[in-house]
Amino acid sequence: MSDDLITGLIHHPYEPPAGFDAVPPGVFKASTVMFPNVAALRARSWKSRAGYTYGLHGTPTTFTLEERIATLEGGRYCVLAPSGLSAITLVDIALLKQGDELLLPDNVYGPSKELARTLLADWGITHRLYDPMDVPGMAALIGERTKLVWLEAPGSVTMEFPDLGGLVAAARARGVLTALDNTWGAGIAFRAFDFDIDIVMQALTKYPSGGGDVLMGSLVTRDEPLYHRLLQAHGRLGLGVGANDVEAVLRALPSVALRYHAQDRASRELAAWLGTQPAVQGVLHPALPGAPGHAHWAASCRAAAGLFSILLDPELTPAQVDAFVDGLRLFRLGYSWGGPVSLVVPYDLRAMRSHAGGLQGHLVRFSIGLEAVADLQADLAQALHRLGQ
Ligand SMILES: *Cc1c(COP(=O)(O)O)cnc(C)c1O
Repeated sequence: MSDDLITGLIHHPYEPPAGFDAVPPGVFKASTVMFPNVAALRARSWKSRAGYTYGLHGTPTTFTLEERIATLEGGRYCVLAPSGLSAITLVDIALLKQGDELLLPDNVYGPSKELARTLLADWGITHRLYDPMDVPGMAALIGERTKLVWLEAPGSVTMEFPDLGGLVAAARARGVLTALDNTWGAGIAFRAFDFDIDIVMQALTKYPSGGGDVLMGSLVTRDEPLYHRLLQAHGRLGLGVGANDVEAVLRALPSVALRYHAQDRASRELAAWLGTQPAVQGVLHPALPGAPGHAHWAASCRAAAGLFSILLDPELTPAQVDAFVDGLRLFRLGYSWGGPVSLVVPYDLRAMRSHAGGLQGHLVRFSIGLEAVADLQADLAQALHRLGQ
């Protein structure tokens, strides 16, 4: 070997002793993966999980998170993507081609609708929106070109909990694949694969990360050929995830159920209390009796995420609603959920839905963090007080 100091440093012969064991799994970082010889380089395939080829296609660290997320969802195979939205995009691109049609629930995660309206439309893939609370209505939209039905339970912001079993059965009867955005359920509220869903997607950004500091998405399936279709598109698109982000999710994952249940308890308490306030016209929380789809939630779920919306009195002016939101101190104004800080976002109901489902009033969505419930309630009370009601 060279006498040059730097070459000696780079190709240093020291190997630490084997057998190190600690609570966190080791974090391996790589773009380049090194092969012992040409035969090994030629023998390895990037599509196989039996070895390593290039950082994009996986390291021991990403394989470890894949296996744990597959377990969390009750599935077998997992693909990780750099955000929840990129995981959604991956499903659409992997499974659809020009001339195909996609069905989306009207209350689907907004950017998923936006993707269908813009890029998918440009590529000749059409979509139709269905009312998630109307199974026969969804079934009637399935045509020769329908190749995929997205599901979400409950839907984003308006929180209607659909009849998942009914929707999946209708799609399956016509040989159409189903994909569920399971970010709300997080693998904890219900077992998505009990409903015979083909692909379960989750924004790991929310509960599994839990810190408000990571973007990541996952796709889980039980079907090997389907997994290979997803993995191929993943490799071709180059949707790798960073080792630091994977490490953050691995570190937070052991406490996901504790955090989920704590935020569930706090959010049910606050949602029920808000329901007693005069300015609050309605509370959209699937675990509360009277909420849209509550019976479906009760039949399929053991828990609920710390997320709900309220409808404020339609007689209030938009400026009063903005003042209520701005008047909150512990609730911070921002997107996302599942982190330690409680969040609030006002939404314009009419701009979001093709059929508003009879909902009226000013829509405000809350994500409950990990603060003391009494403090959050006091914060809501002082901001409601500004409404003068
Ligand atoms: C946040 C979210 C996503 C997207 O996740 P990102 O990591 O932010 O891209 C998708 N679906 C739902 C229901 C979400 O809440």
